[in-house]
Amino acid sequence: MRKATLKRMEKELLRMKEEIIRELSRHSRYENVEEGKDVGDLYDDMAASREKELEIIMSDRERKKLQEIEEALKRIKEGTYGICEECGDPIPEARLEVMPFARVCVDCKEKLEKEEKSIQEIETQKFLKKLPLDDFNIEE
Ligand SMILES: [Zn+2]
Repeated sequence: MRKATLKRMEKELLRMKEEIIRELSRHSRYENVEEGKDVGDLYDDMAASREKELEIIMSDRERKKLQEIEEALKRIKEGTYGICEECGDPIPEARLEVMPFARVCVDCKEKLEKEEKSIQEIETQKFLKKLPLDDFNIEE
């Protein structure tokens, strides 16, 4: 991947991260949010003093997204960004434009989703089989 593209992706990821954190700080009762304060400081402050509160405010979806962004930023630093974690092929730039924190290519994503779905189905089947239906005979 070209350096310029990488730089652009990094910028986009940082922007997304900032957006989430700003959104969170707006929703929290964190009142020491100063306009223009460095978002890194803001993040540290919030993480340190409001960890519990943050956990409550942050939905799983936001938490997951933030984590994905952090991981993508790490991959940029490590030089593994833009490479599919499954097949090792480069992820097309067009996909990264839409989803800068993508970890796998479209083909692998579809494959993984199918697998995940079948695993879920198997788990559900197992769960249903394990239900102690026999125990529902109430003794008189
Ligand atoms: Zn792949």
